[in-house]
Amino acid sequence: MVQKGQIGVTTDNIFPIIKKFLYSDHEIFLREIVSNAVDATQKLKTLADVGEFKGELGDLSVRVSVDKKKKTVTVSDRGIGMTAEELDQYINQIALSSANDFLDKYKDNSNAIIGHFGLGFYSTFMVAKKVEIVTQSHNQDAPAVKWSCDGTPEYTMEEVKKEDRGTDIILHIDEENKEFLEKEKIESLLKKYCKFLPIPVVFGKKQEWKDGKNVETEEDNVVNEVNPLWKQKPTELKDEDYLQFYRTLYPMSFTDEPLFWIHLNVDYPFNLTGILYFPKIKSNLDLQRNKIQLYSNQVYVTDSVEGIVPEFLTLLHGVIDSPDIPLNVSRSYLQSDQNVKKISNHITKKVADKLEELFKKERPQFEEKWESLKLFIEYGMLSEEKFYDRAAKFALLKNSEQQSYTLEEYRELTKGSQTDKNGELIWLYASDRQEQYAPIEAAREKGYDVLLMDGQLDIHWMGLLEQKQEKTRFVRVDSDIIEHIIEKDEKSAPELNDKQKETLTEVVKSQLPVIEKTEFNVDFKALGESSKPVQITQNEFSRRMKEMAAMQQQMAFYGEMPDSYQLVLNADHPYIKELIAQSEEKEKEELKRTVTADTKLKQMVDLALLAGGLLKGEALNSFVKRSFEMI
Ligand code: ADP
Repeated sequence: MVQKGQIGVTTDNIFPIIKKFLYSDHEIFLREIVSNAVDATQKLKTLADVGEFKGELGDLSVRVSVDKKKKTVTVSDRGIGMTAEELDQYINQIALSSANDFLDKYKDNSNAIIGHFGLGFYSTFMVAKKVEIVTQSHNQDAPAVKWSCDGTPEYTMEEVKKEDRGTDIILHIDEENKEFLEKEKIESLLKKYCKFLPIPVVFGKKQEWKDGKNVETEEDNVVNEVNPLWKQKPTELKDEDYLQFYRTLYPMSFTDEPLFWIHLNVDYPFNLTGILYFPKIKSNLDLQRNKIQLYSNQVYVTDSVEGIVPEFLTLLHGVIDSPDIPLNVSRSYLQSDQNVKKISNHITKKVADKLEELFKKERPQFEEKWESLKLFIEYGMLSEEKFYDRAAKFALLKNSEQQSYTLEEYRELTKGSQTDKNGELIWLYASDRQEQYAPIEAAREKGYDVLLMDGQLDIHWMGLLEQKQEKTRFVRVDSDIIEHIIEKDEKSAPELNDKQKETLTEVVKSQLPVIEKTEFNVDFKALGESSKPVQITQNEFSRRMKEMAAMQQQMAFYGEMPDSYQLVLNADHPYIKELIAQSEEKEKEELKRTVTADTKLKQMVDLALLAGGLLKGEALNSFVKRSFEMI
């Protein structure tokens, strides 16, 4: 007898909505029906375990096949199956009403639907014009049933003969979706979504290379790994297993081995398993993102975990598997979900634990890996308060001599010598060891230490450390003459009257080459007879602003400003002393002529520019010529 009925929906016709809303993500239908088949199989195993199912379990593989002629894709399982009543209840009533609810809720936000669960069985209508279910309950007394529906709210249900226990889902693929009748397409989807499902999924037979061509063997082609590494006990795994798994996860994209990894395993108060790998992070942060794959009970969901873990953790690689992450909600909703918050905090804590453990137990190795970890740790400290508090204990500062210190150690090292007269601790740094060689040496000669801050995020990181650490300031070694960076006691500036100042400034400036978008201020300081006569420095604040501007759109305004430098003349130097004396006696123009004629001041200014990397092109060329002439 054929039963006829109407699927209990409130909306007139849900099928056009399904097709329309899920337009861009048709392929998930396969994940939905294969994971249903896996669920049904696992349920049967559970029943057998508790003694409620006494029959033979036999081969429990889920089988997927494509028939190009009949234009069908079939997924078959030997799981619990359904009786007519169950089918009526689960498919005709519940499933459809939940699909209906779901679509209703996300009508205006197709993005929220795409890639997430919630539609289940009915997602098949995205690609099929007709779907059939042939099912035999594990309870052999119940007759097998066939359900059929052609994409209208009408369905038919009839008794049929079915040899074996379990369910066949037969999709009659429609014309627009015929790509899903290609073997390669189905195989690639199985590899994407079903790679780690807990029940073997078979797609055709294994191929073998024989007599110059691929031939089919007798052996089933199992597409998945039923017991993925993250589900195994960490104590039973070796390093090589983790490295091997890393290569399985990223067969194409990575050659570098990960630095280390964390095996996550929580079952209370939420369920979470997974393995997170720390990659060697070099420069381009964006290229590194979206390598964490999110699973729900071994079913692949997505590789975009933003909103689920703090942003800096998206730089890690690996897998997270949690059925407790709600998947059928929008990303913005995720962030306020309590479970997600807990999971995210847990992962952050585990990451910090791992780093701290390495730092404590294997400091030399930690120091060695620092260069590859630094960007990640600095990013974490900048973006997550909680992580800052943890990482402040093991984050490292490296000096120009390649020695590493924690923040605490470095404070101890420098506080005696580098605290200025206002009680502020000055941490000197260089951003380029070669370019700033002279000022680095000058600082070291004074017994100061100089940090090397040449990382991508260092400018931001230093700003953060200044906020967090009391009375500590970073100053680049070339931002002023060293005596002025760390001021110990009041140094007397030379006494110059207004006329002298004006005359000297103009005379000195007349010796400068023209450099585009660059400004110079002239200043006189008493630095002792043996110090250099002329030095060039760049103000810390304006330089930092420009560097940040180069990285941030909002600060582009600073990037437009000219570079501003200080030209510092040492009033204690014999030549400069003489110049100051003459500025009192001679008129501006006359002094200019004298100075220009003897070329010494020009030579000194050029040398200072050269040391600061500012002497280029024609100015550099005439400097070289003049120097040879002098010899
Ligand atoms: P969900 O899987 O989220 O419950 P679905 O719409 O995918 O929603 O499926 C609805 C119900 O139909 C399932 O909960 C299950 O009871 C039943 N079902 C679906 N596929 C199978 C199958 N292959 N074997 C047995 N029962 C199934």
